[in-house]
Amino acid sequence: MPAVKGAKLELTCISRGSLVQELTFSPWLAARAKRLRIYRRTINAFWLLIALILALNLLRWIFPKISPLVIGAIWRPFGLAMYVWGPIWFSLGLGCMLGLFKSPSCDRQFTSKFSLVWFGRTCQNCHFDIYTLKHKPANG
Ligand SMILES: [Zn+2]
Repeated sequence: MPAVKGAKLELTCISRGSLVQELTFSPWLAARAKRLRIYRRTINAFWLLIALILALNLLRWIFPKISPLVIGAIWRPFGLAMYVWGPIWFSLGLGCMLGLFKSPSCDRQFTSKFSLVWFGRTCQNCHFDIYTLKHKPANG
């Protein structure tokens, strides 16, 4: 049955065509979204740090007789991490304020200028979600 064979061949061509289109577009979009997810985690880590500082202060308040050496030992890794994370956080925040982060979907400014302490997961213009790689409804 040559007619059926021909039809089958055409179907494979079409499916291959859409596969090529997906492969050329998606990885680029996904890579840009992934980079924004890393920025988001770094900037939003600010709140994790605030929570840890409060928890450590609470620890000192609950156990007033705890040795300052122990408190120092707990603090030291955070102090060292601040030297690494602090400048990165500051430059990312500066990037937000200058509008350097573009949406992978609409190529306009992704965040608001005041996202130094909170980096949203959706684009402020087109509501593109960097986790699902889809557009969210405006009030969703
Ligand atoms: Zn956008």
